[in-house]
Amino acid sequence: MSDKSDKRSTFPLPLSSVTGDKRAGAAFSPVKVATPQTATRNAAGSGVQGSQGGAQNYVPRVSVAPSRAPLDAYQRAQPLPLSAPRPDTGVSDAIRRAMVGRVAKQGVQDGVVLKAMESVQRHRFIEPALSAQAYVDASLPIGHNQTISRPYIVARMLEVLRNGKPLTRVLEIGTGCGYQAAVLSHIAKDVFSVERIRQLHELAKTNLRHLRIVNLRLHYGDGMLGLPQAAPFDGIILAAAGLEVPQALLEQLSVGGRLVAPVGAQVQHLQLITRTGKAEWMSETLEGCHFVPLRPGTV
Ligand code: SAH
Repeated sequence: MSDKSDKRSTFPLPLSSVTGDKRAGAAFSPVKVATPQTATRNAAGSGVQGSQGGAQNYVPRVSVAPSRAPLDAYQRAQPLPLSAPRPDTGVSDAIRRAMVGRVAKQGVQDGVVLKAMESVQRHRFIEPALSAQAYVDASLPIGHNQTISRPYIVARMLEVLRNGKPLTRVLEIGTGCGYQAAVLSHIAKDVFSVERIRQLHELAKTNLRHLRIVNLRLHYGDGMLGLPQAAPFDGIILAAAGLEVPQALLEQLSVGGRLVAPVGAQVQHLQLITRTGKAEWMSETLEGCHFVPLRPGTV
């Protein structure tokens, strides 16, 4: 545990408390940083990132990198308009299992999270022109200068949020295309997700409609204010980085609840905040990351 891990803090935290390169222990290995700015480059053909570490309790059914043949077949798949449900292919199942295998090799060990990632078809959330890159470990553009996060960071944050225990009520800030919300719906009893850009909120609705996920509710609004009408939450996850975690979100955590958020500007780290009492929160700074900015208001 780092020296930050048992420090009790009053919130909002000062910026100085979230910068620097402290990590919460050996489990948090340094990772390569994918920036929103590189998303377009990623989409244009990045390779899979190197794998480090090892997962002990997850054995993907396909643990090898996708072979040339199915990937080529997948790339040849006819693009369909976003509004139409895209057909399932056995090929995408195999490629997705390989993606999850790589996420596990990078150190994500929570079998529940890995299984959820295996269940959600990431290519259905990405515009058809980019769907061949859907299972590469890269962030990808989703329009409006926003990105879908890379699979590793989605899995890592969900693992930190879960902490090996079932989640009851989770709030996601930044629905984007709806991918992470769909994964969350597999690991939490009830999921609420807020998006501030109306067109992305609508896109997520379109992407998610055919999945008929009964335990997921999408809201259009400013997630910096949280979702007081549905609070308290035992898990809150932010998909966009602020200079600090908004006070409203801290107040909407239940005692014992956990919040995971990217924090910072140019230099960002994942921050885990646990509510330890009515007026007490504990903060840990985890690995480096790069997210789009958290912004106030709605557009
Ligand atoms: N989880 C998403 C990632 C989207 S990127 C996915 O799987 O696609 C981050 C998203 O956070 C963007 O869509 C951005 O518009 C949104 N965002 C930024 N600030 C916000 C705020 N205050 N409230 C709600 N959403 C916000």
